[in-house]
Amino acid sequence: MRFVTFEQGGLARPGVLADAQTVVDLSLIGYHTLLRFIAGGDDAFKKAAKLAAESPTDSRHLLTQVRLLAPIPLPRKFICVGLNYRDHAAETNTPIPDVPTIFNKFATAVIGPGANIVLPKVSKMPDFEAEFAFVIGEGGRHIAAEDWRKHVFGYTCVNDVTGRDYQKATSQWLMGKTFDTFGPMGPWIVSADEIADPHNLDISLAIDGVTMQDSNTRELIFKIPELIAYLSSVFTLEPGDIVSTGTPAGVGVARTPQRFLKAGETVTVRIPAIGELRNPIVAEA
Ligand code: ZN
Repeated sequence: MRFVTFEQGGLARPGVLADAQTVVDLSLIGYHTLLRFIAGGDDAFKKAAKLAAESPTDSRHLLTQVRLLAPIPLPRKFICVGLNYRDHAAETNTPIPDVPTIFNKFATAVIGPGANIVLPKVSKMPDFEAEFAFVIGEGGRHIAAEDWRKHVFGYTCVNDVTGRDYQKATSQWLMGKTFDTFGPMGPWIVSADEIADPHNLDISLAIDGVTMQDSNTRELIFKIPELIAYLSSVFTLEPGDIVSTGTPAGVGVARTPQRFLKAGETVTVRIPAIGELRNPIVAEA
């Protein structure tokens, strides 16, 4: 199933796609945010499947008539993994790491599909990063790597937009990663049962239709089981936490000549097994 958050009548509502064109409001079965729905576990999931299959036509909204927001507009945690593709480590002349590099974005960075990425006046090096993200279902601490499937609710696309100059100004990447609008996410979360092997998915990014990144999640250095074990060895993973797994080769800063985002362009992250996350780019007013 595909889960979204959509805006209708000025309100953000959680939804499940009933088919490729329509969405049904999960508040009909008592869930008012996707975060609460995910925390509802298997019971909620079964109710959503029934709702998607049996909802009367007049309770369905056409996707063309609602605005999709980020599936999790206010994540409790938006965790990112740095230097996690073999091809990206090579292009940045970085040795293959022994320990995952973890950073985060604040919820104020999150935007949905179609929303503008606003290039801040202060950063001269706004860059793009196509990423495959997993969403935690059942939370926990000290989760064993082999139990990873019990804890993954689903998968989505992220663009880890980055101000390279701010990222590299100090040893801490946070400030370059968490400008407002630098966390596009979506267009939906595909439930984990629909993707048999998340470590074999094509992933690409294009600017105005020109491909900049083109790889596959098999290039991931730290895969989902190791990431869940490592993260939960330090803190409690909670339902709806987002873990964006890193970006493959082809980012703007590593190209010759360097190639940064410009106002007026549209950037699209594409993972065919999930969908397309497309965002226009504008300059800060
Ligand atoms: Zn990244």
